[in-house]
Amino acid sequence: MTHLTLQAVTKRFNSAYAVDHVDLSVPDGKLICFLGPSGCGKTTLLRMIAGLETPSSGIVNFAGRDITHVPANQRDFGMVFQSLALFPHMTVAQNIAYPLRLRKTAKVTQSQRVTALLELIQLPHMANRPVTQLSGGQRQRVAIARAIASSPKLLLLDEPLSALDAKLREAMQVEIRLLQQRLGITTIMVTHDQREAMTMADEIVVMEKGRIAQVGKPLDIYRDPVSEFVADFIGLGNILPVTYDGVGGVSLPGGQQIVVTPPARAPASASEIRLLIRPEDVCVRIGSGAADQNQNRLSGTVSFIRDVGASLEATIECAGFTLTAATTPRETPGLMLGMPVLAELPPHACKLIAARAAH
Ligand code: ATP
Repeated sequence: MTHLTLQAVTKRFNSAYAVDHVDLSVPDGKLICFLGPSGCGKTTLLRMIAGLETPSSGIVNFAGRDITHVPANQRDFGMVFQSLALFPHMTVAQNIAYPLRLRKTAKVTQSQRVTALLELIQLPHMANRPVTQLSGGQRQRVAIARAIASSPKLLLLDEPLSALDAKLREAMQVEIRLLQQRLGITTIMVTHDQREAMTMADEIVVMEKGRIAQVGKPLDIYRDPVSEFVADFIGLGNILPVTYDGVGGVSLPGGQQIVVTPPARAPASASEIRLLIRPEDVCVRIGSGAADQNQNRLSGTVSFIRDVGASLEATIECAGFTLTAATTPRETPGLMLGMPVLAELPPHACKLIAARAAH
């Protein structure tokens, strides 16, 4: 059963569309990420689901009921918004108990629930500590415990980890994901960090200028983006302007021909076409043999190397364009700046997509 559905949900501020006719079904028990660049409407969409913003038009439906105009405090959703900070004058336990106090839950039940939640967020020994004496990650966990204290049917998170440093942020991503799976609570999270979305989400909703650009499982979107915008936003990619003969033959920017697996969904013929190949799909070998069109083999020269120990990224100058290839120091030992290399583009890894419309 689908719990939350949005039908043509739209928000205009003055005459500008922040969210433009969004249709979406959020499956029960899943974690969904709204992902997109700054200003694409993620937060506005989440706030309409929360009841903090009223749609200009469209319907928000939850558990079979139209809740478009139900006030936020009557929706029973848990929220962790950047701006909804913890109460600084309260202890950890008092913060977590706050929504239960508001509901006038019996004192005994409150205390049992707080104990269980403290265990869940692995801070059982910190019940009486003022929240001002917690680390950023601990505070974030308390905020989540407070949001789920009253067992909401939906948890809404708006960039909950953006204030944390990179390492803690990655650890918290895993923690929140595991917690969400354990509780089976339907969760919607806003982020502009594609890696965070890929780590945590069952499904990603990629947004572009107030509209949904693509919805799907993280790896499906990564492997099969529907447009240049999505391909560019999700992960690193080589995106090259090409011409396509409609049956698998592609002409690269320098004029060299390669063969690709014809796409199931051919890009519209009117649009310009881009070839997408992810860096990890480019096979690099040191050497200067002849370019071979039958094997999709191109010759080039290494112009930059980013070697971070576990992985290695090489920039390769080919005739008429630049490629990025991801490899490892073990796979390509001895790779150095200025070296001639052969880069192979496996036909099945080459995706053809429509170019983004000119602005
Ligand atoms: P960010 O990642 O930067 O938070 P976002 O994708 O969450 O961006 P929104 O905050 O939803 O984007 O904003 C979408 C658009 O609506 C932006 O152009 C923004 O300027 C505009 N907007 C948002 N809130 C208001 C408001 N209260 N009044 C006028 N315009 C607004």
